[in-house]
Amino acid sequence: MRLILVPTPIGNLEDITLRALRVLKEADAVAAEDTRRSRVLLEHYGIRTRLVRLDQHTLGRLPALFSRYPTLAYVTDAGTPGISDPGAELVAWVLARGGRVEALPGPTAFVPALVASGFDVRRFAFEGFLPRKGRERRERLARIRADDRPTVLYESPHRLPATLAELAELFGPDHPVAVARELTKRHEEVYRGPLLGALQRFEKPRGEFVLVVPPAAPEPPDEAALVEALRARGLSGRDLAEALTRAGVPRNRAYRLALK
Ligand code: SAM
Repeated sequence: MRLILVPTPIGNLEDITLRALRVLKEADAVAAEDTRRSRVLLEHYGIRTRLVRLDQHTLGRLPALFSRYPTLAYVTDAGTPGISDPGAELVAWVLARGGRVEALPGPTAFVPALVASGFDVRRFAFEGFLPRKGRERRERLARIRADDRPTVLYESPHRLPATLAELAELFGPDHPVAVARELTKRHEEVYRGPLLGALQRFEKPRGEFVLVVPPAAPEPPDEAALVEALRARGLSGRDLAEALTRAGVPRNRAYRLALK
């Protein structure tokens, strides 16, 4: 049982590696989330490997599929299988039964959005799709607001305005965002500007979207409360000033407050 995850283009059919094409050609079968969509790709490259349907509702077919096709290449609708699509469930299924899983590197939507955003992306958080509603959504948004890394989100066009509005409420309307739309396709664009501007720009959005939201500036410490709490713990003078500095108060100011 050998499963090979094969990333496929997120728009532009040229975005596929030579290795991916060879693996698709040589596999016993190609399992696809949507066979109609994947057939276009295979036909474009003259690949005649057998194409079978496999999504989260048809995982029950896996034992039969593997006994017939021991090496299965897996493709999802677009991008890297396992990133916000049914790929991860399939990987878990195969690993749990002692099978072999290989993953080819290749296209995925969030990387070009992230690196084109213009934000400091040395560290980042990938959140994929937000929970749709309720407490889970509110809690996830609160965690994103508290994160000190830029966050990457996937969003469908019809939910985009609501999500941008919620982000504007949470971070403030002037907070920056990058909205990457239709990456690698004819109408590709990247909006970089305040959340309020994004709301205006994408009032009736069409296409596929990735959002990159940089972290909020850290809240300045409540200095008076901090001094009081540290004095209550018996700190004074130089010790107090050093503790204030460690809590983020600029050194000069920390000494002034401590010696007052
Ligand atoms: N596995 C895919 C990947 O590696 O990126 C993601 C699959 S997820 C079901 C589909 C979402 O990816 C879309 O709703 C959109 O947020 C994002 N996406 C896919 N293609 C895109 C594109 N060309 N431009 C912008 N976003 C895209």
